[in-house]
Amino acid sequence: MEKLILQIKQCHYCKKEIRGRSDKKFCNDYCRNIYNNQLHATENNLIRNINHALGKNRRILDELASTEKIIKIKKEELLYHGFRFKYHTHYYKGKTGTDLFGCYDFIYFMIEDEWCVFIRN
Ligand SMILES: [Zn+2]
Repeated sequence: MEKLILQIKQCHYCKKEIRGRSDKKFCNDYCRNIYNNQLHATENNLIRNINHALGKNRRILDELASTEKIIKIKKEELLYHGFRFKYHTHYYKGKTGTDLFGCYDFIYFMIEDEWCVFIRN
């Protein structure tokens, strides 16, 4: 008697039996999308939160600087407005060894850990 081998596969999301192509992992696009969204949820949240913080930093600078090209602001004031120093879009060392941070079109550096100088590009 010939052996009948039944390959029963389950949808990775809803666990229902899948029929059709053997490489299928999901019963439909709906299941695939939910599964992938859940899989990447933590990662997406992290990215969203950092992007949000960077955007907020940029808005704070834009408002405080107004039309000025160079502005000196107390670190305290920036913290009061919710500026998060932890996040910046780029970083490099100036010729004199100064730490220069970027926030999109702004570049800034600290003076004695109390003042911040922002230059709008
Ligand atoms: Zn499914």
